[in-house]
Amino acid sequence: MRDIALAWRADGLTVGLVPTMGALHAGHMSLVEAACRENERVVVSIFVNPIQFGAGEDLGRYPRSPERDLAMLREAGVDAIYKPSVADMYPPGAGTRVNVHGIADSLEGVARPGHFEGVATVVAKLFAAALPDRAYFGQKDAQQLAVVKRLAADLDLGVEIRACPTVREADGLALSSRNAYLDAAERQAAVCLSRALRLASEAYRRGERDLGRLRAILRNTIEAEPLASLDYAEVVDPATFTRGGSLAVLAVRIGKTRLIDNHDLKLTYPG
Ligand code: AMP
Repeated sequence: MRDIALAWRADGLTVGLVPTMGALHAGHMSLVEAACRENERVVVSIFVNPIQFGAGEDLGRYPRSPERDLAMLREAGVDAIYKPSVADMYPPGAGTRVNVHGIADSLEGVARPGHFEGVATVVAKLFAAALPDRAYFGQKDAQQLAVVKRLAADLDLGVEIRACPTVREADGLALSSRNAYLDAAERQAAVCLSRALRLASEAYRRGERDLGRLRAILRNTIEAEPLASLDYAEVVDPATFTRGGSLAVLAVRIGKTRLIDNHDLKLTYPG
């Protein structure tokens, strides 16, 4: 991949990178479309990164749809698909890990120890392979986005991190590869995440600024759904992920499936 990227850069072409774990959906494709609009060459990486999954998480059963992914990316007109193997990325003896302290130490970082270390390490390697001018990440994974922005700034990587809005189903559920795990009843129950975010942003618009009361709206909405169990509900600063600010973030288990979602309460809730 790096040789192709070097040749593009030698020709003065701008390069956009969209990192994914495959099982592509319209959320991923919105990142690809933004990358195609803003760059002369676009690389999409597909790599289910084992080191960002904890013990007992869903690495072994993570959804995969390689043929469909390929067809979708061909149709979108991307210039390269980078699909490294686990051995390419982590050959025997590889021992370097990238840690972004601070942002990575709360919420998802606590719920999934080692997750952001895995993310930051793989993103640094993907940047080294594809040499992008810009890299595209979804607002859906807001803490990941903040970690990657910090990584790019702290290590002077020279990559502009572009954030893309969350793509949702008609009823509000944020698209996620993990939605495929939900059965019909769970799928209906999963709408409680976006409902909670909508109710909190409506309260914010009416003038509610008390973090405890905003958190209670999030928590009570999730707790009203019998199939859901709350992992966390917080309102944080979107850059530092410390308490305060206006980004409402949620992690919820629906049956065995863990879903996350977020919304900036300053913005009107879509739909
Ligand atoms: P993943 O394949 O889950 O690692 O996601 C790859 C990229 O797509 C990440 O930057 C995600 O934040 C982004 N993404 C996932 N779901 C959505 C969505 N519903 N809307 C926008 N971006 C998304």
